[in-house]
Amino acid sequence: MVIASHILGKAAKPSSAPLKVQKKTAVTGPRKNITFKDGTAKEQVKQLVEALKADGHDFTVGIDLHTPIVEAERVVSAGKGIGSKKNMKLIEDLALAAGAAIGSSRPVAEQLGYLPIDRYVGMSGQKFSGNLYIACGISGAVQHLKGIKDAATIVAINKKAGAPIFKNADYGIVGDVNEILPLLSEALSVGGEKKPAPPMVKMKRKVVKEAPAAPIGRYVCMGCGYEYIPELGDEAGDVAPGTKFADLSQEWVCPECGEEKASFIPSGKE
Ligand SMILES: Cc1cc2nc3c(=O)[nH]c(=O)nc-3n(C[C@H](O)[C@H](O)[C@H](O)COP(=O)(O)OP(=O)(O)OC[C@H]3O[C@@H](n4cnc5c(N)ncnc54)[C@H](O)[C@@H]3O)c2cc1C
Repeated sequence: MVIASHILGKAAKPSSAPLKVQKKTAVTGPRKNITFKDGTAKEQVKQLVEALKADGHDFTVGIDLHTPIVEAERVVSAGKGIGSKKNMKLIEDLALAAGAAIGSSRPVAEQLGYLPIDRYVGMSGQKFSGNLYIACGISGAVQHLKGIKDAATIVAINKKAGAPIFKNADYGIVGDVNEILPLLSEALSVGGEKKPAPPMVKMKRKVVKEAPAAPIGRYVCMGCGYEYIPELGDEAGDVAPGTKFADLSQEWVCPECGEEKASFIPSGKE
Protein backbone atom coordinates (compact mmCIF):
# COMPACT_ATOMS: atom_id res chain seq x y z
CA MET A 1 0.00 0.00 0.00
CA VAL A 2 1.36 3.45 -0.89
CA ILE A 3 0.36 6.52 1.10
CA ALA A 4 1.09 9.86 -0.50
CA SER A 5 2.26 11.91 2.42
CA HIS A 6 2.19 15.14 0.41
CA ILE A 7 -1.55 14.65 -0.10
CA LEU A 8 -2.26 13.78 3.51
CA GLY A 9 -0.10 16.61 4.76
CA LYS A 10 1.69 16.75 8.08
CA ALA A 11 -0.19 16.38 11.32
CA ALA A 12 -0.52 19.73 13.04
CA LYS A 13 1.44 20.04 16.26
CA PRO A 14 -0.80 20.48 19.28
CA SER A 15 -0.79 24.18 20.17
CA SER A 16 -0.26 23.29 23.82
CA ALA A 17 3.13 21.69 23.06
CA PRO A 18 5.71 23.32 25.31
CA LEU A 19 8.17 25.55 23.46
CA LYS A 20 11.79 24.65 24.01
CA VAL A 21 13.96 27.66 24.68
CA GLN A 22 17.67 27.04 24.45
CA LYS A 23 19.58 28.99 27.06
CA LYS A 24 23.03 30.05 25.93
CA THR A 25 25.28 30.48 28.92
CA ALA A 26 28.92 31.48 28.74
CA VAL A 27 31.36 28.62 29.41
CA THR A 28 32.98 30.78 32.10
CA GLY A 29 29.64 31.46 33.82
CA PRO A 30 27.96 34.85 34.24
CA ARG A 31 30.43 37.65 33.41
CA LYS A 32 30.18 41.42 33.22
CA ASN A 33 30.71 41.51 29.42
CA ILE A 34 31.84 45.14 29.41
CA THR A 35 33.63 46.20 26.23
CA PHE A 36 35.32 49.59 26.31
CA LYS A 37 34.42 51.28 23.05
CA ASP A 38 34.48 55.01 23.77
CA GLY A 39 37.35 57.20 22.73
CA THR A 40 40.81 56.35 21.43
CA ALA A 41 42.62 53.08 22.14
CA LYS A 42 44.56 54.87 24.90
CA GLU A 43 41.34 56.07 26.52
CA GLN A 44 39.83 52.59 26.32
CA VAL A 45 42.90 51.16 28.03
CA LYS A 46 42.63 53.84 30.74
CA GLN A 47 38.99 52.88 31.38
CA LEU A 48 39.99 49.22 31.60
CA VAL A 49 42.75 49.92 34.13
CA GLU A 50 40.41 52.09 36.22
CA ALA A 51 37.81 49.31 36.26
CA LEU A 52 40.39 46.73 37.32
CA LYS A 53 41.70 48.97 40.10
CA ALA A 54 38.13 49.68 41.24
CA ASP A 55 37.59 45.91 41.47
CA GLY A 56 40.55 45.71 43.87
CA HIS A 57 43.49 44.57 41.68
CA ASP A 58 46.66 46.06 43.11
CA PHE A 59 49.25 46.67 40.42
CA THR A 60 51.95 47.87 42.81
CA VAL A 61 52.66 44.19 43.57
CA GLY A 62 53.53 41.30 41.29
CA ILE A 63 54.56 37.67 40.96
CA ASP A 64 57.35 35.98 39.00
CA LEU A 65 56.74 35.54 35.26
CA HIS A 66 57.35 31.81 35.61
CA THR A 67 55.03 31.10 38.55
CA PRO A 68 53.16 27.85 37.81
CA ILE A 69 49.78 28.71 36.23
CA VAL A 70 47.82 26.82 38.91
CA GLU A 71 49.46 28.92 41.65
CA ALA A 72 49.45 32.27 39.85
CA GLU A 73 47.29 35.16 41.02
CA ARG A 74 47.43 36.74 37.55
CA VAL A 75 48.25 35.45 34.08
CA VAL A 76 48.80 37.29 30.81
CA SER A 77 48.15 34.77 28.07
CA ALA A 78 49.08 34.74 24.38
CA GLY A 79 46.93 33.27 21.65
CA LYS A 80 47.75 32.74 17.99
CA GLY A 81 46.73 36.35 17.41
CA ILE A 82 50.06 37.40 18.90
CA GLY A 83 51.64 36.71 15.51
CA SER A 84 55.37 36.15 15.19
CA LYS A 85 57.61 34.98 18.04
CA LYS A 86 59.21 38.38 18.50
CA ASN A 87 55.80 39.67 19.62
CA MET A 88 56.04 37.49 22.72
CA LYS A 89 58.06 40.44 24.08
CA LEU A 90 54.73 42.33 24.20
CA ILE A 91 53.29 39.55 26.38
CA GLU A 92 56.35 39.54 28.63
CA ASP A 93 56.27 43.33 29.02
CA LEU A 94 52.57 43.26 29.83
CA ALA A 95 53.03 40.43 32.33
CA LEU A 96 55.77 42.43 34.09
CA ALA A 97 53.58 45.55 34.15
CA ALA A 98 50.55 43.61 35.40
CA GLY A 99 52.57 41.68 37.99
CA ALA A 100 51.54 38.45 36.29
CA ALA A 101 52.88 35.12 35.07
CA ILE A 102 52.91 34.18 31.39
CA GLY A 103 50.59 31.65 29.77
CA SER A 104 49.19 30.82 26.36
CA SER A 105 46.63 28.91 24.40
CA ARG A 106 47.50 25.35 23.40
CA PRO A 107 48.60 26.01 19.79
CA VAL A 108 50.97 28.77 20.92
CA ALA A 109 52.83 26.25 23.08
CA GLU A 110 52.24 23.04 21.13
CA GLN A 111 52.38 24.12 17.47
CA LEU A 112 54.35 27.36 17.59
CA GLY A 113 56.60 26.40 20.50
CA TYR A 114 56.69 29.96 21.86
CA LEU A 115 56.31 28.68 25.45
CA PRO A 116 56.90 25.34 27.21
CA ILE A 117 53.97 22.91 27.12
CA ASP A 118 53.35 23.35 30.86
CA ARG A 119 52.37 26.97 30.29
CA TYR A 120 49.33 26.48 28.11
CA VAL A 121 45.93 26.93 29.70
CA GLY A 122 42.77 24.95 29.13
CA MET A 123 40.86 21.73 29.37
CA SER A 124 43.89 19.61 28.46
CA GLY A 125 46.42 22.07 29.92
CA GLN A 126 46.83 24.06 33.12
CA LYS A 127 43.83 25.38 35.04
CA PHE A 128 43.90 28.99 36.13
CA SER A 129 41.78 29.92 39.13
CA GLY A 130 43.48 33.13 40.22
CA ASN A 131 42.23 36.70 40.21
CA LEU A 132 43.07 38.12 36.79
CA TYR A 133 43.42 36.51 33.37
CA ILE A 134 44.31 38.71 30.39
CA ALA A 135 43.70 36.86 27.12
CA CYS A 136 45.60 38.46 24.22
CA GLY A 137 44.70 37.31 20.70
CA ILE A 138 42.86 34.25 22.01
CA SER A 139 39.62 33.32 20.23
CA GLY A 140 37.88 31.68 23.19
CA ALA A 141 37.54 28.05 22.11
CA VAL A 142 35.55 25.98 24.61
CA GLN A 143 38.63 23.91 25.41
CA HIS A 144 40.53 27.05 26.40
CA LEU A 145 37.65 28.58 28.34
CA LYS A 146 37.30 25.46 30.49
CA GLY A 147 40.71 26.22 31.92
CA ILE A 148 39.77 29.75 33.06
CA LYS A 149 36.17 29.36 34.22
CA ASP A 150 37.19 29.86 37.86
CA ALA A 151 39.16 33.07 37.23
CA ALA A 152 37.82 36.00 39.26
CA THR A 153 38.25 38.47 36.37
CA ILE A 154 38.77 37.78 32.68
CA VAL A 155 40.00 40.46 30.26
CA ALA A 156 39.92 39.93 26.49
CA ILE A 157 41.91 41.75 23.83
CA ASN A 158 41.05 40.62 20.33
CA LYS A 159 40.73 42.37 16.99
CA LYS A 160 37.45 40.62 16.15
CA ALA A 161 34.42 41.95 18.05
CA GLY A 162 32.61 38.65 17.45
CA ALA A 163 35.29 36.45 19.04
CA PRO A 164 33.67 34.16 21.65
CA ILE A 165 36.20 35.24 24.29
CA PHE A 166 34.28 38.53 24.71
CA LYS A 167 31.09 36.76 25.82
CA ASN A 168 33.18 34.94 28.39
CA ALA A 169 35.04 37.97 29.69
CA ASP A 170 34.35 40.66 32.24
CA TYR A 171 36.18 43.36 30.33
CA GLY A 172 37.22 43.63 26.71
CA ILE A 173 38.89 45.86 24.19
CA VAL A 174 38.42 45.22 20.48
CA GLY A 175 41.80 46.00 19.01
CA ASP A 176 45.12 44.84 17.66
CA VAL A 177 47.52 43.36 20.22
CA ASN A 178 50.33 45.35 18.61
CA GLU A 179 48.58 48.57 19.57
CA ILE A 180 46.76 47.68 22.80
CA LEU A 181 49.42 45.69 24.65
CA PRO A 182 52.06 48.45 24.77
CA LEU A 183 49.39 50.94 25.89
CA LEU A 184 48.20 48.59 28.61
CA SER A 185 51.76 47.91 29.77
CA GLU A 186 52.37 51.63 30.05
CA ALA A 187 49.12 52.23 31.95
CA LEU A 188 49.86 49.44 34.46
CA SER A 189 53.52 50.25 34.96
CA VAL A 190 54.63 51.72 38.28
CA GLY A 191 57.91 52.90 36.79
CA GLY A 192 60.11 50.27 38.42
CA GLU A 193 60.02 46.79 39.93
CA LYS A 194 56.85 45.64 41.60
CA LYS A 195 56.83 44.75 45.28
CA PRO A 196 56.51 40.97 45.82
CA ALA A 197 52.83 40.08 46.03
CA PRO A 198 51.55 38.78 49.37
CA PRO A 199 49.92 35.30 49.39
CA MET A 200 46.95 35.39 47.08
CA VAL A 201 43.54 36.17 48.53
CA LYS A 202 40.96 34.92 46.07
CA MET A 203 38.72 37.76 45.01
CA LYS A 204 35.01 37.18 44.93
CA ARG A 205 33.43 37.28 41.52
CA LYS A 206 30.81 39.95 41.24
CA VAL A 207 27.61 38.05 40.60
CA VAL A 208 25.80 39.29 37.52
CA LYS A 209 22.15 39.22 38.43
CA GLU A 210 19.59 37.81 36.02
CA ALA A 211 16.78 40.16 34.98
CA PRO A 212 13.76 39.66 37.25
CA ALA A 213 11.34 37.07 35.95
CA ALA A 214 7.85 38.09 34.92
CA PRO A 215 5.12 35.57 34.13
CA ILE A 216 4.01 36.71 30.68
CA GLY A 217 4.60 40.45 30.81
CA ARG A 218 6.00 42.73 28.14
CA TYR A 219 9.29 44.57 28.57
CA VAL A 220 10.36 47.85 27.10
CA CYS A 221 13.86 48.91 26.01
CA MET A 222 15.10 52.00 27.84
CA GLY A 223 17.36 52.77 24.90
CA CYS A 224 14.79 53.09 22.11
CA GLY A 225 11.35 52.20 23.46
CA TYR A 226 11.10 48.88 21.60
CA GLU A 227 8.62 46.59 23.35
CA TYR A 228 9.37 42.89 23.70
CA ILE A 229 6.10 40.98 23.37
CA PRO A 230 6.45 37.35 24.51
CA GLU A 231 3.64 36.16 22.24
CA LEU A 232 5.61 37.37 19.20
CA GLY A 233 9.16 36.52 20.31
CA ASP A 234 11.94 38.04 18.22
CA GLU A 235 12.36 36.55 14.78
CA ALA A 236 15.58 38.45 14.02
CA GLY A 237 17.14 37.21 17.25
CA ASP A 238 15.92 33.63 16.65
CA VAL A 239 13.59 33.76 19.67
CA ALA A 240 10.48 31.62 19.30
CA PRO A 241 7.01 33.14 19.86
CA GLY A 242 5.87 32.38 23.40
CA THR A 243 9.30 32.90 24.97
CA LYS A 244 9.05 34.76 28.27
CA PHE A 245 11.36 37.72 28.73
CA ALA A 246 12.98 35.96 31.69
CA ASP A 247 13.88 33.02 29.44
CA LEU A 248 15.80 35.12 26.90
CA SER A 249 19.53 34.42 27.05
CA GLN A 250 21.85 37.03 28.58
CA GLU A 251 23.39 37.52 25.13
CA TRP A 252 20.08 38.61 23.61
CA VAL A 253 20.04 42.29 22.62
CA CYS A 254 17.33 44.73 21.56
CA PRO A 255 16.61 44.08 17.86
CA GLU A 256 16.08 47.83 17.30
CA CYS A 257 19.07 49.48 18.99
CA GLY A 258 21.32 46.69 20.29
CA GLU A 259 20.88 47.55 24.02
CA GLU A 260 21.48 44.57 26.27
CA LYS A 261 18.77 42.65 28.12
CA ALA A 262 19.58 44.44 31.40
CA SER A 263 18.39 47.71 29.81
CA PHE A 264 14.79 46.48 29.63
CA ILE A 265 12.14 47.27 32.23
CA PRO A 266 8.61 45.85 32.62
CA SER A 267 6.20 47.87 30.47
CA GLY A 268 3.30 47.16 32.79
CA LYS A 269 1.32 45.51 29.97
CA GLU A 270 0.39 41.83 29.89
C1 LIG B 1 40.74 17.63 22.50
C2 LIG B 1 41.19 19.07 22.41
C3 LIG B 1 41.68 19.67 23.54
C4 LIG B 1 42.09 20.99 23.47
N1 LIG B 1 42.57 21.57 24.60
C5 LIG B 1 42.94 22.85 24.57
C6 LIG B 1 43.41 23.50 25.73
O1 LIG B 1 43.52 22.91 26.82
N2 LIG B 1 43.76 24.80 25.63
C7 LIG B 1 43.66 25.52 24.47
O2 LIG B 1 43.98 26.70 24.45
N3 LIG B 1 43.20 24.91 23.35
C8 LIG B 1 42.87 23.61 23.36
N4 LIG B 1 42.44 23.03 22.23
C9 LIG B 1 42.50 23.81 20.97
C10 LIG B 1 41.30 24.72 20.82
O3 LIG B 1 40.24 24.01 20.22
C11 LIG B 1 41.64 25.94 19.94
O4 LIG B 1 42.10 25.50 18.70
C12 LIG B 1 42.67 26.86 20.56
O5 LIG B 1 42.34 27.18 21.88
C13 LIG B 1 42.73 28.14 19.72
O6 LIG B 1 43.82 28.89 20.15
P1 LIG B 1 43.89 30.45 19.89
O7 LIG B 1 42.72 31.10 20.48
O8 LIG B 1 45.23 30.89 20.32
O9 LIG B 1 43.90 30.54 18.30
P2 LIG B 1 42.77 30.96 17.27
O10 LIG B 1 41.52 30.19 17.52
O11 LIG B 1 43.39 30.87 15.93
O12 LIG B 1 42.45 32.47 17.61
C14 LIG B 1 43.31 33.53 17.36
C15 LIG B 1 42.56 34.80 17.72
O13 LIG B 1 43.45 35.91 17.60
C16 LIG B 1 42.73 37.01 17.05
N5 LIG B 1 43.74 37.87 16.42
C17 LIG B 1 44.44 37.64 15.28
N6 LIG B 1 45.31 38.64 15.07
C18 LIG B 1 45.14 39.52 16.08
C19 LIG B 1 45.76 40.77 16.42
N7 LIG B 1 46.74 41.28 15.68
N8 LIG B 1 45.33 41.41 17.52
C20 LIG B 1 44.32 40.90 18.29
N9 LIG B 1 43.72 39.72 18.02
C21 LIG B 1 44.13 39.04 16.94
C22 LIG B 1 41.75 36.40 16.09
O14 LIG B 1 40.65 37.26 15.90
C23 LIG B 1 41.37 35.09 16.79
O15 LIG B 1 40.21 35.26 17.59
C24 LIG B 1 42.02 21.72 22.27
C25 LIG B 1 41.49 21.09 21.14
C26 LIG B 1 41.09 19.79 21.21
C27 LIG B 1 40.53 19.14 19.98
